[in-house]
Amino acid sequence: MPSTPREAFDLLLAGNRRFAAGTPRHPNQDAARRADLASAQRPFAVLLGCSDSRLAAEIIFDQGLGDLFVVRTAGHAAGPEVLGSIEYGVSVLDCPLVVVLGHDACGAVAATRAAVADGTTGRGYLRDVIERVTPSVLAAQAAGVSEDEDFIATHVRHTVDFLMDRSRELADQVDAGRTAVVGLSYRLADGSARPVTARGLELSSDPAPTS
Ligand SMILES: [Zn+2]
Repeated sequence: MPSTPREAFDLLLAGNRRFAAGTPRHPNQDAARRADLASAQRPFAVLLGCSDSRLAAEIIFDQGLGDLFVVRTAGHAAGPEVLGSIEYGVSVLDCPLVVVLGHDACGAVAATRAAVADGTTGRGYLRDVIERVTPSVLAAQAAGVSEDEDFIATHVRHTVDFLMDRSRELADQVDAGRTAVVGLSYRLADGSARPVTARGLELSSDPAPTS
């Protein structure tokens, strides 16, 4: 089980490469693993991802029971309960990695872009999701972004910044080297997750190894 941010990140990306290549191992999904975990869990990563049904975390990173502490909301919108869940994963469960997972063709980002364009706010509690994503869309537009992929990358970066800014606990754990935060952009068609930003971890200059 990885104990450093680097080991955790490498393990997670290795699983994604297996999934993307169509050669998953489906680790840690049997009855023995289930029994081992019954008394305690020690996941190696917290994952805050979009709720999109195509982003099933354990599947796309080829992990199993007890591996990932997963928090998913539409557009990985982060409010108080999300921040508290991440802090639980980092401070109580000692996860050495926090991942923010965005993806192309994200419905929450598209809905927010449409709401910003129309000057509307969304119905019901969808409004809360749109409000959380709006700063990212406005920042991307101010930067002259037009491609969907760049809107997603901007939103992932903004979400990482938001977590670090709002959670003193998370920022302290990153400063102490006990955990790192990495933002990933996932491509629905080929199943690959590409790093776009990190805190507390040096990203390799080759962002998308394929082997
Ligand atoms: Zn999405």
